[in-house]
Amino acid sequence: MRTPLVMGNWKLNGTKDSVTALVNGLIEPAKAATGVQTAICPPVVFLGQVEALVGDAPIAYGAQDASVNTSGAFTGENSPVMLKEFGCTYSLVGHSERRQYHNETDEVVAAKFKAIQENGLVPVLCIGETLEENEAGKTEAVVETQLKAVIDLCGVEAFENAVIAYEPVWAIGTGKSATSEQAQAVHAHIRGWLASQNASVAEKVQILYGGSVKAATAKELFSQADIDGALVGGASLLADEFGAIIAAA
Ligand code: PEP
Repeated sequence: MRTPLVMGNWKLNGTKDSVTALVNGLIEPAKAATGVQTAICPPVVFLGQVEALVGDAPIAYGAQDASVNTSGAFTGENSPVMLKEFGCTYSLVGHSERRQYHNETDEVVAAKFKAIQENGLVPVLCIGETLEENEAGKTEAVVETQLKAVIDLCGVEAFENAVIAYEPVWAIGTGKSATSEQAQAVHAHIRGWLASQNASVAEKVQILYGGSVKAATAKELFSQADIDGALVGGASLLADEFGAIIAAA
């Protein structure tokens, strides 16, 4: 059995005050949800504050991106070594907003995945198709290509210690979630495709769904056989709403 994981992606949001209120508001829901892993990905400037607020509460945290480099003349970057020092467990990698606005190719994403993992963090690889690709019937081919770039560099065994987040780009921040049946079909395809390379890795890897997840839709999504939790954007900024999603898992 795979443990459900509910992860919040705060994107470029937060103030010192809102971070304090949000983390404090998540401690009870996270404690109450035994058997569910809770995680948050704040902007890196808040990591020290999050580390102090979380204390020994069962809330893991991570970054939304990481540099492929560990140190040096790379202005504006955040090293996976630094993220580890701040207590991060995870780093997202290849979020569609990074692919779209920062031109991150599958090769760049794979190199970052490798750097994140080599420095002791769990990469959360975000994959998913655009609306155009979806309408052209290319969803399966797109997610395979995105996964293959990582497998070519790191091997399929790298997914022993990684998380996959399937996030159809057309569902992110649009209020238009994939139906649980649509999401399950893609998750099953991803797991089956991985299983054709390594059955035990495929069985173990957590595959999260992301794209306009709300408390009202979470239970139905989590009831699907291959949906092991969620990566939540907008709704993760509201303690009550995110708490209800954690409870649904
Ligand atoms: C995300 O940013 O990963 C995401 C899924 O956002 P939202 O839940 O707002 O669609």
